[in-house]
Amino acid sequence: MGAGASAVTITAEDVVAFVGRAAVTIARHEALLDRLDAALGDGDHGTNMSTGLQAVIRALRDEAPAEAAGPLDVGALLRRIGHTLVASVGGASGPLYGTLFIETGFALDGRHAVDLPTVARALDAGRAGLARRGRCRLGDKTILDALEPAVRALQAGADAGIPPDEAFVRAARAARAGVRATIPMVARRGLALRLGERSRGHRDPGATSCFLLFRSMLDGRTSGRPSRRRR
Ligand SMILES: [Mg+2]
Repeated sequence: MGAGASAVTITAEDVVAFVGRAAVTIARHEALLDRLDAALGDGDHGTNMSTGLQAVIRALRDEAPAEAAGPLDVGALLRRIGHTLVASVGGASGPLYGTLFIETGFALDGRHAVDLPTVARALDAGRAGLARRGRCRLGDKTILDALEPAVRALQAGADAGIPPDEAFVRAARAARAGVRATIPMVARRGLALRLGERSRGHRDPGATSCFLLFRSMLDGRTSGRPSRRRR
């Protein structure tokens, strides 16, 4: 989440900044995600994700005054985001993304600053939760096809001791490759299941939004734009 050389840990502030970038990125790609979902499902994935992220931003804003007693820890914040997504994102994606954030949050409970190996482990717990909830595996043409390679790339980066910024770039790249890999797949979960062979030749919308979320973890510096963070 954009933790650079000057900041090797991720805090609740970074997560809030990530949500802001994610909302902008998803809104910008809302029509594309709807179009991808129209080919395989019911055409509302972009709208649903946009609505959900706006709800998250509102929930975090409304809560801000209550935080005067002390900021939320990273785990509690992620669980809060997850519960809001479950309640506000329509279709299968709400429970799936919700579970991802909630389970990742449980793995970070009580932590106020988290390093890359810890984030990678927590996201892997989130990935496992999503796979369980969706009863999906790699190759089923779902969110998981972008999520799993991205988490593996983060873990590999953490194991190799590379800077967090670079590890997040590699994770986003792995997620994008994962999206491309869904094109020739025949769907084994979700609404696209009813299409059978005809689901081939289309990018999975859930994998695509997952890639966009990973790309939103890169802050201004790493994505080549001026950072909005002052440090
Ligand atoms: Mg849909």
